[in-house]
Amino acid sequence: MVQILSGKEVSRKVYSDLIPRIDSLKKRGITPCLAVILVGENPASKIYVRSKTRKFESLGLHSKTIHLEKSIDETELIRNIQSLNNTKDIHGILIQLPLPKHIDDLKILQLVSPDKDVDGFHPENVGLLSIGHPRFISCTPKGIMRIFDHYNIDLDGKHVVLLGRSNIVGRPMSLLTGTKKKGANATITVCHSGTKYIPDFTSSADVVISAMGVPEFLKGKMLKKGSVVIDVGINRVEADNEKGYRLVGDADWDSIQENVSAATPVPGGVGPMTIAMLVENTVEAAERIMVNS
Ligand code: NAP
Repeated sequence: MVQILSGKEVSRKVYSDLIPRIDSLKKRGITPCLAVILVGENPASKIYVRSKTRKFESLGLHSKTIHLEKSIDETELIRNIQSLNNTKDIHGILIQLPLPKHIDDLKILQLVSPDKDVDGFHPENVGLLSIGHPRFISCTPKGIMRIFDHYNIDLDGKHVVLLGRSNIVGRPMSLLTGTKKKGANATITVCHSGTKYIPDFTSSADVVISAMGVPEFLKGKMLKKGSVVIDVGINRVEADNEKGYRLVGDADWDSIQENVSAATPVPGGVGPMTIAMLVENTVEAAERIMVNS
């Protein structure tokens, strides 16, 4: 029987653990607040931003969305970020990616105050993570580590194969799983578009974490018996339903059943954890600001 690693379930625990921390901040007159900068009209980005801000509202936290025109020039965008950096009541800042092509992502992400960088994308926070002293850890990889912890999946000595090396998921994930810490300490292989034959690596993996964005790429025959699959992918494929599409992961759910012992579903796996970690990081940012003020 394959164990379902439910991000929905783990995220409920995260939220209940946050309640006393939020209460304690509120008693001191502080309500954690996230500011989101959304540039343009990308429909997926709008849905992501709405679901993040709705979660903040449902927990009695504050959020603010700054929706800017797609044609905005870099100077104006920078002015908005600087204003948020200097606003005391804003504890976390998130720049919804992707940004329009004429804007340099890296330059923009570097302008977010590292103390408000709840997405963990600022080079200072990435650097701290890479030397084993994290401040803010990017939400998806952090959420995946929480899933391992919740289901007592100890990575020590295991072979973890990552499919994808993006700055958002694959790269920080490789740092977290390979770090010399309790629950981690795995041996890591990172596969990407330059990898000649991915099954050579996945077939010896104890854990496969897929963040490629290729629908149903990972098949059961590519996996070792008893392995664990964490499916980060969220892919739209055409479907004969009202919406005209359905969401699938990078793993072919039916096919992997023959070999996996546990797996995250799509939806309901990694996705809810990404939002839960964003809330947790924002609460943490508010706590840090309170301690330092
Ligand atoms: P990304 O920036 O496009 O990175 C994809 C990575 O996969 C790259 O490293 C790329 O290799 C590699 N790759 C793509 N196609 C490949 C192939 N055919 N063979 C081998 N490697 C391949 O994507 P991302 O932002 O990391 O997101 C990945 C997926 O996760 C997407 O479906 C996204 O929607 C989803 N996602 C979900 C969550 C969540 O909360 N569940 C959060 C973030 C992302 P190169 O480096 O060589 O180009």
